[in-house]
Amino acid sequence: MHVVLLGPPGVGKGTQGILLADAFGWERIVTGDLLRAARDAGTELGREAQQYMARGELVHDQLIIGIVQEKLKTLTLGTNVVFDGFPRNSSQALTFSMMLQTVGLAIDQVVVLEADDDVLIKRISGRRSCPSCGAVYNQSLASPIREGVCDTDGGALFRRADDEPSTVRNRLEVYRRETEPLIAYYEKSHALVHHIAGSPSVEVVQTALRDALGLSLS
Ligand code: AMP
Repeated sequence: MHVVLLGPPGVGKGTQGILLADAFGWERIVTGDLLRAARDAGTELGREAQQYMARGELVHDQLIIGIVQEKLKTLTLGTNVVFDGFPRNSSQALTFSMMLQTVGLAIDQVVVLEADDDVLIKRISGRRSCPSCGAVYNQSLASPIREGVCDTDGGALFRRADDEPSTVRNRLEVYRRETEPLIAYYEKSHALVHHIAGSPSVEVVQTALRDALGLSLS
């Protein structure tokens, strides 16, 4: 199964994708993580992407498509995949559909996580990440045991540069303008589109997500 997770920044796509992938052995393709890794490694691609990421703008389609294509090549055929942060606009969605079609695949289901801007801004302002293991914490929803310290490996938690309030506003605007129209795109295609409230607790949202996708551990 190929599932696209859509939703504004801060709605919980990353957290929900990790829980889903861990529980059911799915692969995750997270374009934001791939770009941050390229940036941190100092590659040319990473340096180019950084200029856009810092402003909360979308990185060029060609660059993103290239990254996703490379990543897809590493997966075994038949692997279930959840896409988080991709596609992000209609041009990416069209190219992606064609890419999958050439290998006889399609997006089966789309999950739209939804929350109001005030909830998202509050969440993002309290979001902290671990530089070594990538774990994400949130002051209001999933706080670390010791403030500022990763529960898993003791790393000093930091705030992503693009989580600063001025950039967050732009990211939300970009989402509403560029990404939200993909809901209609997928509704018109053959994918099943599920709308799930992203403001309840992590556990409640995860249960709703699994129910929507028809997944159960038993
Ligand atoms: P995210 O972690 O998904 O919020 O992504 C962080 C930043 O990476 C975004 O604000 C964009 O600058 C960039 N980015 C991630 N995914 C994409 C994509 N599919 N297309 C263009 N830019 C992207």
